[in-house]
Amino acid sequence: MCGIVGYCGPKAASQVLIEGLKRLEYRGYDSAGVCILKDSGFKVIRRTGKIRNLQEALGDGEAGNCGIGHTRWATHGEVTEENAHPHTDGNSEFAIVHNGIIENYQMLKDDLEHKGRVFRSSTDSEVIAHLLAEHYRDSLEQALRDIIPLLKGTYGIAAVTSREPGKIIGARNGSPLVIGIGEGEMFLASDVTAVLAYTKQVVYLNDGEMVCITSDEYRTCDVHDRIIKKQVELVEWELEAIEKQGFKSFMEKEIYEQVDSVQRACQGRINPEAATGHLGGLNMLPGELREIERIRVIAAGTSYHAGMIGCYLLEKVARIPSFAELSSEVRYKNPVIEPHSLYFAVSQSGETADTLYAMRELQRKGAKVLGLCNVIGSTIARESDGGVYLHSGPEIAVASTKAFTSQLTIFYILTLLFARMKHYSLEDGLKFIEALESVPGHLQTILDRAHQVEALAKKYAGFKDFLFLGRGINYPVALEGALKLKEISYIHAEGYSAAEIKHGPIALINEQTPSLFIVPDDHLRDKIISNMKEVKARRGKLIALAVEGDYGVADIADDTLFVPRAHELIYPFLMVVPLQLFAYYCALELGCNVDQPRNLAKSVTVE
Ligand code: GLU
Repeated sequence: MCGIVGYCGPKAASQVLIEGLKRLEYRGYDSAGVCILKDSGFKVIRRTGKIRNLQEALGDGEAGNCGIGHTRWATHGEVTEENAHPHTDGNSEFAIVHNGIIENYQMLKDDLEHKGRVFRSSTDSEVIAHLLAEHYRDSLEQALRDIIPLLKGTYGIAAVTSREPGKIIGARNGSPLVIGIGEGEMFLASDVTAVLAYTKQVVYLNDGEMVCITSDEYRTCDVHDRIIKKQVELVEWELEAIEKQGFKSFMEKEIYEQVDSVQRACQGRINPEAATGHLGGLNMLPGELREIERIRVIAAGTSYHAGMIGCYLLEKVARIPSFAELSSEVRYKNPVIEPHSLYFAVSQSGETADTLYAMRELQRKGAKVLGLCNVIGSTIARESDGGVYLHSGPEIAVASTKAFTSQLTIFYILTLLFARMKHYSLEDGLKFIEALESVPGHLQTILDRAHQVEALAKKYAGFKDFLFLGRGINYPVALEGALKLKEISYIHAEGYSAAEIKHGPIALINEQTPSLFIVPDDHLRDKIISNMKEVKARRGKLIALAVEGDYGVADIADDTLFVPRAHELIYPFLMVVPLQLFAYYCALELGCNVDQPRNLAKSVTVE
């Protein structure tokens, strides 16, 4: 689930691997290691904690021009040096790095131990190195081909052997692998960001495919050794896109990028003449779209919150019954596919295992599933029946910000498209477009006042528990605000519908538990004010996110942040950005690593 890098070429492998692993740091990890092939044997170095620990241990680097590296996000076995990858067969002949989970590892391990093999880690991954050693006859490719049918679960694997220095082999099932093609050098990685500093020419592997790289060629095949011809693709991202460019952290950069990324998500997708949306990637004719009677969104985490807002909008504005569900739950509930329904699988990385598996289950049952992803060529993007890219540029910080607002943007355009096919007049459509196009300007105003959020965060970062409360279209914004705070500052926060607190959470209210209310000037404003008063009556501290000039709200709250007055439908954009900033500044105040929060991974490719 974390990072893999492999290198064959003229450069010092240790330096390329460390550089690549650093680029993968954003994905979240707990330990790291490299294996460098030498003329005689190989050298494995592993460390827990940050890449810099590994770099220190490597010193000036190990001589050698071929090697594999890994950042581990522990699933099986604690975070220790022994459990860090690469794992070997014990005789320093075979070394592997693995992303994912080998579900039947215990059975394989028992069997291998029976044969006298000694295991040194408590990971599931180590079996792969022992299996390669057991099955090796004349080549590493042959050994990997032979053991693939024995492995159950998900994997991206890179393996080397001291018997064939200068060669790396890889296989993928459910965990991404990409080949980077350089001049006289080849790379293998779990993510293009690891190789972007060296090459933009890449080949994405599909599930069930294997690859063998040497410094001057790559060969892709299936498990039966049938050659698979792959297309070489050009990565569109520039290296700067994965660098901080003067910002303190990627999260800060990505929060600020939203002014542009929302605009980019709209680009070429709005037709002002017809006052409608244009989403070519849906692969659906107007007649087919008009027949849609219900929409379902499957997603996890932040994408789920974007999906909830999308569904609210689709139902309220486009009048299509819509519902967002957690993909992890959809997969196992044996879902019924209703006729004329359309599904959206929403995932920034396009690799989220829960969403990918739920999508496959739905497709198996005949559903049409469209993808809404940021990463071009990702698994969900490729396997879905059509879809839309966010075009937010790479999102590096683990806590998602700009992908969320881009996902919202796509849902707004989708809503416009459906609404205009039904009851929305040309004027309605134009008003909607005007509202959506006003978002970037309003976001700029909010970001210009970030210091106000910073001051608020300084005041409140010491509290241990928070409630985030909103209603209607902003209810999922409350969930998202609470999630952001939890993720990066480790402060306990619950998101609720403001109306719900009286059904339970109000029991938590005291002077030590601040409640942050989202109060737009829409039809629910007065109801929310009543909810605020219920909290105030119990001596709860009140923070309000209100609309400029709404002193009725500011008078009740202990502290108020104002957002610009806008069309009521676009408040989710305007309300979520101050919450992202609030989480960000609280985390800074508490000295947390905002880009790589503990225990979290950027793209969750395990169930
Ligand atoms: N399941 C393996 C482990 O726990 C690999 C984890 C990963 O994907 O980083 O070591």
